[in-house]
Amino acid sequence: MRTVFSIVNQKGGVGKTTTAVNLATALSITGKSCLVIDLDPQGNASTGFAIDPGRRKPGTYEVLTEKVDIVDAIKSTEVNGLGVVPSRVSLANAEYEVPGDSEKEFILKKAIDRLPKQYSAIIVDCPPGLGFLTTNALAASDKVLIPLQCEFYALEGLSQILRVIKSVKSELNSSLDLDGILLTMYDSRNKLSFQVEEDVREVMGSAVYKTIIPRNIKISEAPSHGKPILLYDHTCIGSEAYVNLAAEVLQKGNFGGLNDN
Ligand code: ADP
Ligand code: MG
Repeated sequence: MRTVFSIVNQKGGVGKTTTAVNLATALSITGKSCLVIDLDPQGNASTGFAIDPGRRKPGTYEVLTEKVDIVDAIKSTEVNGLGVVPSRVSLANAEYEVPGDSEKEFILKKAIDRLPKQYSAIIVDCPPGLGFLTTNALAASDKVLIPLQCEFYALEGLSQILRVIKSVKSELNSSLDLDGILLTMYDSRNKLSFQVEEDVREVMGSAVYKTIIPRNIKISEAPSHGKPILLYDHTCIGSEAYVNLAAEVLQKGNFGGLNDN
């Protein structure tokens, strides 16, 4: 059993990459074998795992333009059992370079279908926007995780993402479901965070994860050291939150056996 997760929000800076990197690491630590697919041309998830620019080729650009098999684009990381398919800026052009005879929305899905069975969780870090790259991610996914930053405009844009998920589900991928909405960068000293949490829970109910990711300076420092938070400081509140998120995601089920690695 393997579950493919897309981390999606059309806004930038809401915690998608941070969640992809740290959820994958926390799942790996529980014994899951994970693969992170960096689908953002900015390559922040690749940087977060210390994949130097020289090691990013082949990466997601070559996979989406069908130049290499995805297996040959996987790089190892410092985290045991965790691989990354890295990206670089050229990925932004992939849409215009896909071979004419391929089904444009299903290139990533076909690539993932060719992966060896060893990976029980595949986490796709999406770019901001809901275009070609995000559509490929959704067409290939079982579950969607939507990070929402705890700020005033948090709910704005959510209905658009939900509509896109619904249309991909009906037109491209009937097995697609929302896994959950994740409140990120929660600041307990700020009344606004509390208000946003109340509003989002009222509107979205049980679709919102119980786990909340706090605003935590260590989380923002870790990428500059090329480390996921759990390797940078496993005792901080940010690490604790991502461990709790991994447990919650596992508990939600539809996920290969807990000890299948
Ligand atoms: P996205 O991928 O949605 O663009 P990122 O994950 O890159 O968002 O996060 C945007 C910025 O916010 C980054 O600089 C990141 O380090 C920082 N950040 C993300 N989550 C947290 C958090 N919980 N606490 C503090 N800083 C965070
Ligand atoms: Mg990102």
